[in-house]
Amino acid sequence: MKIVRSARPAAIAVLRQATALFPKRNKLSDGLLPSAAHIKQSPNSDHNTGLAVDLTHDPQNGIDCAELFEKFKEDKRVNYLIFQGKIWSKAYRTQGNRKYSGNNPHNKHLHISILAAHANDTSPWFHWLDKPKTLSKVRARLQRKPKKKPSTN
Ligand SMILES: [Zn+2]
Repeated sequence: MKIVRSARPAAIAVLRQATALFPKRNKLSDGLLPSAAHIKQSPNSDHNTGLAVDLTHDPQNGIDCAELFEKFKEDKRVNYLIFQGKIWSKAYRTQGNRKYSGNNPHNKHLHISILAAHANDTSPWFHWLDKPKTLSKVRARLQRKPKKKPSTN
């Protein structure tokens, strides 16, 4: 498997959009690309192709991965999800949540694998979170203050 140097846009969008909505969220277990140790341990991980993202579980600051695990099942970009010993995958969706028996039970983060066909789709991941105020604050902060026009008199 070829190891890529950068994560795909849909994966990066998860972390960026989460931070835009919840700027105080914990990012300790966030991850896009694998470490050398991770590649060795999980040579077939979707992190190696840039098609996976780990989002830190931080319900106190808005990122409740138990809730996201359920919500993201509806997202067409999702290939499979892993959180707290459970795995759900699109291919086996009729089986519902299955027990995940990998080395890491994923207690502190939600693992999201993305289908290659949707790798460039950066549409909102958290579309049900109707937080126009938060988003407009983010935009406002990014905008430069308009310069005052010098008086022409
Ligand atoms: Zn992961």
